[in-house]
Amino acid sequence: MTDNVKSITIIGGGLVGSLCACFLAKRGYRIKLYESREDLRKAKHQRGRSINLALSHRGRRALRSVGLEDEVLQNAIPMKGRLLHDISGATKSVIYDEHTNQCIYSVSRNLLNGILLTAAEKFPNVEVFFQSKLINISVREGTCIISNMATNETFEVQSDLIIGADGAFSKVRRFLQQIPLFQFSQTYIDHGYLELSIPPCRGYLMTSNHLHIWPRGEFMMIALPNKDDSWTVTLFMSFRRFEELDDKEKMRKFFESTFPDAIELIGEEELEKQFFAAKPSHLVSIKCSPYHFQDRALVIGDAAHAMVPFYGQGMNCGFEDCTLLDELFETHADNFKVILEKFSSLRKDDAHAICDLAMYNFIEMRDLVTKPSFYVRKVLDNI
Ligand code: FAD
Repeated sequence: MTDNVKSITIIGGGLVGSLCACFLAKRGYRIKLYESREDLRKAKHQRGRSINLALSHRGRRALRSVGLEDEVLQNAIPMKGRLLHDISGATKSVIYDEHTNQCIYSVSRNLLNGILLTAAEKFPNVEVFFQSKLINISVREGTCIISNMATNETFEVQSDLIIGADGAFSKVRRFLQQIPLFQFSQTYIDHGYLELSIPPCRGYLMTSNHLHIWPRGEFMMIALPNKDDSWTVTLFMSFRRFEELDDKEKMRKFFESTFPDAIELIGEEELEKQFFAAKPSHLVSIKCSPYHFQDRALVIGDAAHAMVPFYGQGMNCGFEDCTLLDELFETHADNFKVILEKFSSLRKDDAHAICDLAMYNFIEMRDLVTKPSFYVRKVLDNI
């Protein structure tokens, strides 16, 4: 490799950072990727956050570009529609697209991240470092200070471009926030989420190839299938309500009156265990602009536009960032200044719109999905 090949540091080896490494490696750049956690392919404990995700068109397109779509889809489960559970336990299937059979896919977060990391590591021009956390940054000089979490040593990394794919609480974005005229807003919603699980032995009771929804007005539960026949169930509810369910009896009564069929599916004992095993997690929506600083730094994925998960587009949108970035590299070659400026101006409106749509889709999924269309129109008129 010649010395004039530009170097790029990517912070964050989650879904978006590892995919971005694949795209840029194909273009021949020298890539160093730093991930603060240990290698999830070797880790004994699964890390937090949703166990599976809905992959859709935007995400598939990006995976196709780096030759990974087939491998991912072989490990994914098609969901061709929603299956609505009413309070009596009766269900109704609503197919997404009767005519062309388009569907979304349920895919394991860890498996997908593992596929992307393995693909990135196959490039001779990519180096991936785990347990390596960005602790400081001097963007003007192109310097990142990284701490090795295993040895507590810190070291400096110099590169031509720094890409922050370090999630909703991005350290790279924190640098951008100090620049005059940088716009930033974050909104926490009153609802949190808790993950439960239907074990493989009872997975057959669930209608396959659907995203299951228990819409209950102010709150809801959803379930996505896993390859081992289990289902990951996510309860979205206000923190106030979660706090009210502070003992087994209250929790059991709540499930009996709102999700009676889920008790059998999860199993009574398991439900008790799982419900009190973890605290509900927060959900945040983040908008900012621009996404770059000169020709030196860029944020992508959740670092640029974290959104609430109700539209199932956070990862898909982050993958689309990688597609757009790749198109800009194709057109403008090594001109990082133009590439970053164009990325910010082309991406902002779409990213802000999808954050808003994700917020709106919570009302759709938890409530409007059960209502006749004239009622939906009335609600929309009042938003
Ligand atoms: P992250 O996944 O947050 O990855 C960031 C990485 O950076 C992490 O590995 C982290 O360890 C690392 N990191 C952070 N700080 C540092 C540092 N200082 N130094 C080094 N490394 C660092 N999206 C969908 O498209 N479909 C869905 O169905 C869907 N469902 C969801 C359900 C839930 C409950 C939630 C919470 C989210 C869901 N999402 C979904 C959104 C999706 O999870 C995110 O959009 C996606 O994970 C963003 O990927 P990312 O790589 O940008 O950020």
